[in-house]
Amino acid sequence: MTSVKTKINIAIDGYSSCGKSTIAKSLAKELNYVYIDSGAMYRAVALYALQHNLIQPSGAIDEAALEKALDMVLINFRYNTETGQNETHLNGMNVEKEIRTLQVSNHVSRIAGMKAVRQKLVKIQKRIAEGKGVVMDGRDIGTVVMPDAELKFFMVADARVRAQRRYDELRSYGSDVQFEEVLGNVSSRDEYDSSRTHDPLRMAPDAIIINNTALTLDEQFDFVMNHVKRKMEDVSNVV
Ligand code: C5P
Repeated sequence: MTSVKTKINIAIDGYSSCGKSTIAKSLAKELNYVYIDSGAMYRAVALYALQHNLIQPSGAIDEAALEKALDMVLINFRYNTETGQNETHLNGMNVEKEIRTLQVSNHVSRIAGMKAVRQKLVKIQKRIAEGKGVVMDGRDIGTVVMPDAELKFFMVADARVRAQRRYDELRSYGSDVQFEEVLGNVSSRDEYDSSRTHDPLRMAPDAIIINNTALTLDEQFDFVMNHVKRKMEDVSNVV
């Protein structure tokens, strides 16, 4: 663990299933920082919409009803001592597993494209970031949520490699998905997230790119950690 006391914020953005959360979690653990999975928050809203029949079988979202219901959507993260992870809770229920299903993945990007949803979640995320010592991953963290983050990374990887990782993850949960389905979902979310009107997925101009197509987790972690150490030294010298 680092002995440097000055806390910084670290933004990790990138395409779907790039391994952002894996690196973000390890980083937060190493630094004793708070880890926020912003995608889990959008997934929780999508799950709420599904549970309350606000998404038609055709995929159409009852946006007016969802917007009205947003005040009743309470999302928080609670530490699970058994898994050693922060897990997502929706209105008091642990939904960590439910929010990762392909059904939620298939609807989440359109939910995340809604202005009212983004306004609500970005406000919460910005408030968390004020405390410093935050590692947050998502799509708009370096550009919208934490534009002043001391360190920003943008992760990319070949779409098939990303789909394979998500497929393996879903299969490990016991889900009976097909690889092509997962690839389709990953590609369509990238497309939608990059082209939406509100807070689209963009690389911040000051972000450091990591293409992890052929990198091991240890290599990625070392790369990121080297940048973190350097940044912390810079920040400490200024303070
Ligand atoms: O990171 P994850 O794949 O779990 O995110 C699920 C979806 O939530 C993304 O495909 C994207 O549509 C949305 N999202 C977003 N902004 C964020 C994080 C996630 O729009 N900061």
